[in-house]
Amino acid sequence: MSQSVHVHAFRELLDGGGIVDDPERIATYTTDQRQLFTGSTLAVLRPTTTKQVVDIVRLAAHRGIEIVPQGGNTSYCGGATPDASGRQIIVSLERMDRIREIDPVSMSISVDAGVILKNAQDAAAAAGLLLPLSLGAESSCRIGGNIGTNAGGLSVVRYGMTRDLLLGIEAVLADGTVVSDMRKLRKNNTGYDVKQCFVGSEGTLGIVTGAVLRLAPLPVRRATAWLKLASGVPLAELLGLVRRESADLLTTFEFMAARSITLATEAMIDPSSLRAGPAGAVLVELASSSRHLDLDELMEAVLAEVIESGWIEDALLAQSGSQRAGMWRLRETIPEGEKRRNGSVKHDISVPLSSIQRFLDLAGAQVRSYDANLELSVYGHVGDGNLHYNVLVPPDVDRLEFTKGIESSLSLQLYDTAAALGGTFSAEHGVGRFKKHLLKRYGDVGRIAAMCRIKTAFDPADIMNAGAVVRPLGEKSAR
Ligand SMILES: Cc1cc2nc3c(=O)[nH]c(=O)nc-3n(C[C@H](O)[C@H](O)[C@H](O)COP(=O)(O)OP(=O)(O)OC[C@H]3O[C@@H](n4cnc5c(N)ncnc54)[C@H](O)[C@@H]3O)c2cc1C
Repeated sequence: MSQSVHVHAFRELLDGGGIVDDPERIATYTTDQRQLFTGSTLAVLRPTTTKQVVDIVRLAAHRGIEIVPQGGNTSYCGGATPDASGRQIIVSLERMDRIREIDPVSMSISVDAGVILKNAQDAAAAAGLLLPLSLGAESSCRIGGNIGTNAGGLSVVRYGMTRDLLLGIEAVLADGTVVSDMRKLRKNNTGYDVKQCFVGSEGTLGIVTGAVLRLAPLPVRRATAWLKLASGVPLAELLGLVRRESADLLTTFEFMAARSITLATEAMIDPSSLRAGPAGAVLVELASSSRHLDLDELMEAVLAEVIESGWIEDALLAQSGSQRAGMWRLRETIPEGEKRRNGSVKHDISVPLSSIQRFLDLAGAQVRSYDANLELSVYGHVGDGNLHYNVLVPPDVDRLEFTKGIESSLSLQLYDTAAALGGTFSAEHGVGRFKKHLLKRYGDVGRIAAMCRIKTAFDPADIMNAGAVVRPLGEKSAR
């Protein structure tokens, strides 16, 4: 059957705006966020209802057409990008963007999976509540993608990852069966927790069409500080002290090396005057939903203790909303700063907190002995043991060639080090298409076998995001 016959059949299921097959418009859906790979697709389908998703999946399954679910296409491992065959279809959830319900008493929000994260946050805030998932891509990533990647971000140290926020789910399986479990329950011990299968599954088990997320009381007080780190600072101990002395009101503990701060500063229209200490800087934020707590006073007391320890050179407590926003802007501009320079080879590693310093020491030595001229941009959600340990692409080289070279050599040394310290090669970016070889190299054999069995049970014909993460057992497994 020709491609145009397939496209025609899908078109019949959707309204006028439901299908994109114009090559120019398709390009934005077929290139991954880091522009490392451009795939090809039969068409981009944009359903507006769960029923339409069911119809698409049934037709695709019947014709043996593989489906790549897509949200905001902001993920870093090529999981939302079709392969080069041109035979896969993209199902974009971008038109399923309804907030279904906010329940202030149960403290939950029910949404279509295509809702942009920022819109869900704003809807919760309008009801006096906090959706405590926050990341640099929040204005474009979508809830289904956040579930697909188990997104983390800037507040994990206090509220956990997407997995910890998920109360209910609606998803369409590879044969069109709808899992309809949009309950708001905190407690529901009635067998397997099926919704959790979809978290971090990167579109390989089904298409998430709806979700119920846990909300928290909206903070009304915040205290934000910029800490210039002295050399030799024990980061994990510093974090421990801040958590303990702030009664665990810590929502953010973001580490930035000096080079990352310079890159961000250079990329800003209105450059920040914030500077790093010899060991970089940390952005610390405390938040409270109670008006009765004076967080500035608490932060000042915590900082006095930290200064006394000799771990920081100096600290600046934000005195206004705009000072606070300036600190955040600097942190959030780091990826842009890297991009403007010629990009970076990203290593989204995590290690147990107790091994963070050891990782930094060992990895630094590995980079220096690989090539003493390489520059690093190191930053991340250190509160969660997560570091973005990025090797900067020199300005005058071919980015893709350089990336390939690093990923086949130095990257493996860095991942070996993380693994030896009990860590992982992907803290929050997932596996997608780009990191499958790493899953094979570092994954526990039994765990991978269990993943393949789950994939086989959900999607034996490998319709859902074939080529990402793992294959089902059986004949297609060798592809
Ligand atoms: C500037 C920037 C900052 C970032 N910061 C962070 C961060 O702090 N923490 C973090 O975790 N990530 C971060 N990311 C990565 C990215 O934003 C997250 O992975 C995000 O969760 C992806 O959401 P998305 O909607 O863009 O998903 P997509 O990229 O569209 O898809 C991601 C995966 O989920 C699958 N998928 C998408 N929608 C569905 C669905 N409805 N049903 C089933 N599967 C689906 C896709 O097939 C794909 O495998 C950042 C990215 C950028 C560009």
